[in-house]
Amino acid sequence: MGRESTLTRPEASELLPKLVSIRRHLHQYPELSHEEFETTASIRGWLEEAGIRIAPYSLRTGLVAEVGGVKPGPVVAVRADIDALPIQEETGLPYASRFPGRMHACGHDFHTASAIGAAYLLKEREQELEGTVRFLFQPAEEKASGALKVIASGALENVQAIFGLHNKPDLPVGTLGIKEGPLMAAADGFIVELTGLGSHAAVPEAGIDPIVAAAQIVSAVQAIVSRSVSPLHSAVISVTKLHSGTAWNVIPDKAVLEGTVRTFDEPVRLRVLERFREVVEGVASAYGTKASIHWVQGPPPVINDAGLAELAEEETASLGYTAVKPVPSPAGEDFAFYQRQVPGLFVFAGTAGSREWHHPAFDLDEAALPVSARFLARVAERALRQGKTIPVGSSGAERPRQAERLAAARHPKAAEQVVPADSVEAGTAGAPAGAARPAGAGTSG
Ligand SMILES: [Zn+2]
Ligand SMILES: [Zn+2]
Repeated sequence: MGRESTLTRPEASELLPKLVSIRRHLHQYPELSHEEFETTASIRGWLEEAGIRIAPYSLRTGLVAEVGGVKPGPVVAVRADIDALPIQEETGLPYASRFPGRMHACGHDFHTASAIGAAYLLKEREQELEGTVRFLFQPAEEKASGALKVIASGALENVQAIFGLHNKPDLPVGTLGIKEGPLMAAADGFIVELTGLGSHAAVPEAGIDPIVAAAQIVSAVQAIVSRSVSPLHSAVISVTKLHSGTAWNVIPDKAVLEGTVRTFDEPVRLRVLERFREVVEGVASAYGTKASIHWVQGPPPVINDAGLAELAEEETASLGYTAVKPVPSPAGEDFAFYQRQVPGLFVFAGTAGSREWHHPAFDLDEAALPVSARFLARVAERALRQGKTIPVGSSGAERPRQAERLAAARHPKAAEQVVPADSVEAGTAGAPAGAARPAGAGTSG
């Protein structure tokens, strides 16, 4: 293993104040998804002052940097998301957001500072690294679209494994939540437009009432969770909006339902989406209405590679930290898109916060910064050493088959359109006029 790692040498203690200052700067100047221009410039500055090279992948916001490559070897990626949320901060901290209505309420400032710390640590060992560690500073995680931009830039080329983390307020500092298999949910959304026939409320037989059909659909889709999903698996279907009607004495001709579907593995996801279409179309038809279903594609589930999880648990112990098996989160995370391409591991880093993600008073214990930085540096270096022998767990082996099945299942049917999350938000691509994106679909909340 060569000489002693700098990760355990005393000078690494200088890391904490530096990472705290980076994180607080990011926290004070949060930028929303796809608008992270100053954030990107700051990250570039912090990396360049340490002599870390920026890699030539073209991104409008966000950037890619590399450490290593002096010795030949594989490429391993570390990903950090960099965007903030449209939330008014209420922490009262001296370094609170200086921008009204914008806040790092999901702790992506923490992730960015941690990855920069990992890059600093690995830079000190650049001569010894057996390969290259590529850092992906990814925009727009909160819109579930930044990972796709990074992938489109080609930054995953030659990458053999990818690591990422999310802060976790309910875990103590020094604890990492590591598990193989499902960790976070696929976060899909739906918009169902029911078309009937308007009439006088006193003469219902002259019309086709979409409200009665909508009411039946709200109830009927819940039976998908209880009757079409194994009791050993889990799924959530929530109808979160139901709009129809204009007057007390008029039966309207339209009703619109919106909501979200959360699932933890691809077969269950496919089953639920398939049954949802059958049930909605069937019930709509039974009541004489016509259903038009628009899917809002969120990220797939985060499914961790078993071999990488084992590697991370070993390195966590050797760093003197604690590894626990975390409870999976029904929130979504676009890190999952990388895991469709290469074996990946996403972990939770304990930050001992008093509030959950996306809360206006969200905060974290900055003592967790060097823990996350050391963890990321250590697992990346270890993965490089293992090189081509990185064990790929069952989730990795199943990846291509699942991707094919999902692509097949998403082939748009006649009355069904698949709408990418971003285009719905922009009000295009087949969503009903004025339809907003279902709340929470495709975000890490
Ligand atoms: Zn997040
Ligand atoms: Zn979030």
